[in-house]
Amino acid sequence: MEIDSMVANSALIRARGGGGGKGRSWKWKDMLRFPHISQCMELAKTLERDYYSLCVKQPIGRQLFRLFCQSKPELQVSLSDLYPNVLHLALTLPSPICEGLCVLGIHLRLLCFYSDLHEYLSGAPFLQYQQSMYFDRFLQWKMVERQPVTKHIFRQYRLLGKGGFGEVWAFQARASGKMYACKKLEKTHVKKGKGEAMALNEKQILETLNSRFVVSLAYAYETKQSLCLVLTIMNGGDLRFHIYNMGTSGLEQDRVQFYAAEVCCGLHHLHQMNIVYRDLKPENILLDDNGHIRISDLGLAVTLSEGNLVRGRVGTLGYMAPEVIGNDYYGLSPDWWGLGCLVYEMTAGRSPFKRKGERVIGKEMERRIQEEEEEYGKIFSNETKDFCRLLLTKDPRDRLGCQGSGVYGIKSHPFFRTINFRRLEAGVIEPPFKPDPRAVYCQDVQDIDEFSTVKGVILGRADNDFYIKFNTGSVAIPWQTEMIEMGCFKELNVFGPQGSRPPDLDW
Ligand code: ADP
Ligand code: MG
Ligand code: MG
Repeated sequence: MEIDSMVANSALIRARGGGGGKGRSWKWKDMLRFPHISQCMELAKTLERDYYSLCVKQPIGRQLFRLFCQSKPELQVSLSDLYPNVLHLALTLPSPICEGLCVLGIHLRLLCFYSDLHEYLSGAPFLQYQQSMYFDRFLQWKMVERQPVTKHIFRQYRLLGKGGFGEVWAFQARASGKMYACKKLEKTHVKKGKGEAMALNEKQILETLNSRFVVSLAYAYETKQSLCLVLTIMNGGDLRFHIYNMGTSGLEQDRVQFYAAEVCCGLHHLHQMNIVYRDLKPENILLDDNGHIRISDLGLAVTLSEGNLVRGRVGTLGYMAPEVIGNDYYGLSPDWWGLGCLVYEMTAGRSPFKRKGERVIGKEMERRIQEEEEEYGKIFSNETKDFCRLLLTKDPRDRLGCQGSGVYGIKSHPFFRTINFRRLEAGVIEPPFKPDPRAVYCQDVQDIDEFSTVKGVILGRADNDFYIKFNTGSVAIPWQTEMIEMGCFKELNVFGPQGSRPPDLDW
């Protein structure tokens, strides 16, 4: 390995290891300074007063509403008439524990309790909350969240990978120290490749998702040269790297089952929102520090309008479903074909329609996918073979996952007999493989091809309209999660004696 690469890697490893406020800029408190409450009036007028969004979904909103409830003895009393001793419990339980309880089977009772509780809290207590200093503080946090985002709020580390429109770099938010991956789309490349709609589509789909099995978008902003998507950093490398570059070819059965199950949950989340992903392949499935996977690269994902099908020959050669190649109308079916290809490739160490090391041209690959039966070697167990066969059914109407039972048909297949999906969805299952925290699971910096520059493309006024739509800054839930997780919320959210001014900040 070359010296440049070693330096870049060790800087990244050091930054990744920094917890407890270590990666923060010395100016972090200035970067997150609350505006005076009088500067929040415009926001107060325009903010949609939706209980569920303000007090349940948004992490900082939830914390402040909880603090408000705890500050009201009368609220504790009236609630404890309804539910002795449980108010405190429910409002203080972090959501992983609630999820844990669900796993233990207290699911239904807790759900009933939860909906009653929220019905109660969304009435008078929610109105009172909006008159309190806790809500003022929420508005202040919201103003900080909505500050314009520029490249100056991040530190840049090494190059992680290369995509169609630009490079992906390791980043760190200066205010909190949290690590991210920044996917840069170069404006000239986007324009030359007519990728505007695609870039905007990727950004808009990402910002509506919130799943532990799909990368989250935390910020979208622009620089002079690029459009930037700041995403969950996935330090464990992609599945392609693990299938082919770790010495062995193919993965052990327990890993195949585990990754397939998590991908299945990610696809389910997308499908529930009527999104077809269309780009399932090992390179797009990434591992985090603990060995959990997330689906990434939503550039080809598309939202189906209610009950409608789409058409479009998109995807990657070798992974496209027969109905995509055939230019037919389709719904969610290409993704279940993709899952079949993925399980096949993780098991065999090669994709289903290509021998090892073989180069296949486009037309021939398409013919094989549409006509040929894939072969199963001895490495396939009976369940794995049956599972792949059912998913790699050429006619989407007969394919597993595309019938009435939908995803449940897949989850209940014997291939997944060792997987408890409820526990998996709650994030309480230990992954079978944990990436080494001192390793960098990607190619050396100098081995990643340099991104070519485009000449002769001039960016003008018309391009600006599109950049403005892209450049929306922080995304609420991931940004608030960052503030809480990195300890910034706790350190800054102090209340002075007479109300909401923290004593240690200069107003
Ligand atoms: P494209 O849409 O152009 O294919 P991708 O989103 O797939 O771009 O990113 C290109 C490469 O960058 C990936 O194959 C992966 O190696 C790396 N990469 C992308 N997103 C992340 C991430 N969130 N964390 C770590 N590496 C990433
Ligand atoms: Mg990709
Ligand atoms: Mg893409």
